Amino acid sequence: QPAPEEKAPAKPGVPGIRHIIAVASGKGGVGKSTTTANLALAIAANGRKVGVLDADIYGPSIPRLFKVSGRPEQVSGRLMKPLESYGVKVMSMGFLVEEETPMIWRGPMVISALTQMLREVAWGELDVLVVDMPPGTGDAQLTMAQQVPLAGAVIVSTPQDLALIDARKGLNMFRRVDVPVLGIIENMSYFLCPDCGGRHDIFGHGGARAEAERLGVPFLGEIPLTMKIRETSDAGTPVVVSDPDSEVAAVYRNIGAKV
Ligand code: ADP
Repeated sequence: QPAPEEKAPAKPGVPGIRHIIAVASGKGGVGKSTTTANLALAIAANGRKVGVLDADIYGPSIPRLFKVSGRPEQVSGRLMKPLESYGVKVMSMGFLVEEETPMIWRGPMVISALTQMLREVAWGELDVLVVDMPPGTGDAQLTMAQQVPLAGAVIVSTPQDLALIDARKGLNMFRRVDVPVLGIIENMSYFLCPDCGGRHDIFGHGGARAEAERLGVPFLGEIPLTMKIRETSDAGTPVVVSDPDSEVAAVYRNIGAKV
């Protein structure tokens, strides 16, 4: 008997959600979650209804960034009600397990948890759902990119060669499953010293822009390395909401207008 032809998995949309955008990075620690949070808030500040799905199952940082915790309520049937913070609807594995509980899961369990967090949540009407992807380009990420009906993906990288090599892998992963890459963001692009006023390119600078050009994808912007971004993130009051008049908040809003 001939083997059935392998079919691309179906990607049904999520009722009520117009666009789903993934924020991804090839490796951890480049500021993917910080960027996701500020970007989501920037898109909301630009007047759109926004949700955030924290798909970083192994290290959910969205609850801390949005200063939101608690168990989602069960509503109509088996749907979970997302929590809300700064006008943005939020769903995270962090709401479903204790903070110190390690997620010792294999790929298939990650996929089923993510599918639930996407499809069994009462998101309501959203213009954009921003997904904070787990770092890396493993099986779980690939399946996720295949199964979530993504309108596009944004790649976050630092200017460093190492991070860029990983970012390129992330980009190729999305290309492989026909998800349009909306562009690359260079995070920790440069450091503005509050003491000397000087600018220091700690991780080099401009690498992501050059790479975006080389790969033929849009370059979305440069986010500086600043004490304020780190402090406001740790405090759960991302800079876009806590200091909307700052230059960095404007940088995020500018990027938010492009995606
Ligand atoms: P990832 O999601 O890629 O693992 P995070 O968003 O958790 O990275 O960021 C890692 C650390 O770097 C956090 O402490 C965060 O506050 C800090 N950070 C991220 N981006 C910036 C930035 N532009 N300026 C200062 N600190 C930053």
